[in-house]
Amino acid sequence: MKNRITVLGSTGSIGVNTLDVIARHQDKFSIFALTGATQVDLMLRQCETFKPDFAVMVNADAARLLEEKLSNEKIPTRVLSGSEALIQVASDERVDTVMAAIVGAAGLSSCMAAARAGKRLLLANKEALVVGAELFMDAVKTGNAKLLPIDSEHSAIFQALPENQQSWRHVVNKIILTASGGPFRQKPWQELKNVTPQEACAHPNWVMGKKISVDSATMMNKALEVIEAKFLFGMTPSQIEVIIHPQSIVHSMVEFVDGSIVAQLGTPDMRMPISYGLAWPNRITSGAAHIDFQHSSQMSFESMESHEHQLRFPGLKLAWDALSASNGMTAVLNAANEVAVELFLKERIRFDQIHAVNLAVLSLPAPSSPRNLDDLLNIDAETRVRAFENAKKLANFN
Ligand code: NAD
Ligand code: MG
Repeated sequence: MKNRITVLGSTGSIGVNTLDVIARHQDKFSIFALTGATQVDLMLRQCETFKPDFAVMVNADAARLLEEKLSNEKIPTRVLSGSEALIQVASDERVDTVMAAIVGAAGLSSCMAAARAGKRLLLANKEALVVGAELFMDAVKTGNAKLLPIDSEHSAIFQALPENQQSWRHVVNKIILTASGGPFRQKPWQELKNVTPQEACAHPNWVMGKKISVDSATMMNKALEVIEAKFLFGMTPSQIEVIIHPQSIVHSMVEFVDGSIVAQLGTPDMRMPISYGLAWPNRITSGAAHIDFQHSSQMSFESMESHEHQLRFPGLKLAWDALSASNGMTAVLNAANEVAVELFLKERIRFDQIHAVNLAVLSLPAPSSPRNLDDLLNIDAETRVRAFENAKKLANFN
């Protein structure tokens, strides 16, 4: 029996890489559903190749257009639209595996639905876990889902940890997340005021969606990953360390109580963690280039503690601030950051004002503790309003 897969966010960077791996192993996997927001032509090509039962376009106009094109080409895929349809294809009983690759809190409800329905859940959508936090992990537990991290750092840690998960706490000293430092690692921090969205999106090692590219430039991506690591692996925040590793070859490391460190290495290609998630506990070919140690250049590491880096990447610290505050603050941080990044991409605020917005919103009174998905969605929505108001004041726009 082939493993039946729903790819949430199939038209994005992770989605496309996921389909690339699946195309190499069509004897093992088949596609139940693909989802996207607006990119009709890419979705049409994906439907031609993978013949899914369902294609979801969140945007209704895009869904109508896709339906028309599919019918012209006599492709029998059924088209659905709206965000409820995401939940439907993430939790359908015919689905074995869900790749969660929507960007942002927009992916929260479908991720939680897949978790509750007990799917094998491949989590790229880190924002969903940052927003959902304990409630997300509870849904995984009660649904008896298998959660497999796709973020390269978390996949590395998952691979480095002992198989018996019960024993982690007694033998692991800390986890060390590596960060490339992004496009501005060596830029004088005073000049960050003037950088453009295009410069911020030009990541030296990875080709990714725009939102995560900006997050990598501010290092808010690493802040979200610290929060992600805390919930995925049950670490205390003080057991998580971040180190800059510009070559992105060591994807992250686990340090044990005896001083041993286990790391996972590879070329920077997301098909590696994706294929691991798809095949776990086995391995399959991924299409990624292999490291050639005979000819590879050196690996280096840089402390985050230097004065320059503290000024360049002030957002990283917000992860620990949010984790030490009340429940719900990680959702607040995520929503503020999503709004700030979007406004920066639209050139309505400056690059350095992303942090200013995040900091201002985190300093507002905390929301009451979320008890369910609706509470999380309310915190997300209310924080977006606050973040927008703050940005308007800061940057003086209407
Ligand atoms: P992307 O922008 O390339 O793709 C996002 C996908 O989500 C697209 O399919 C888009 O149609 C869909 N989408 C956007 N808004 C939506 C909405 N409101 N409702 C439903 N669908 C919507 O993003 P990406 O780079 O592929 O990243 C996806 C997720 O994976 C993010 O959470 C990111 O942090 C994480 N991630 C990405 C990489 C990477 O290399 N790209 C690495 C690690 C983690
Ligand atoms: Mg990552």
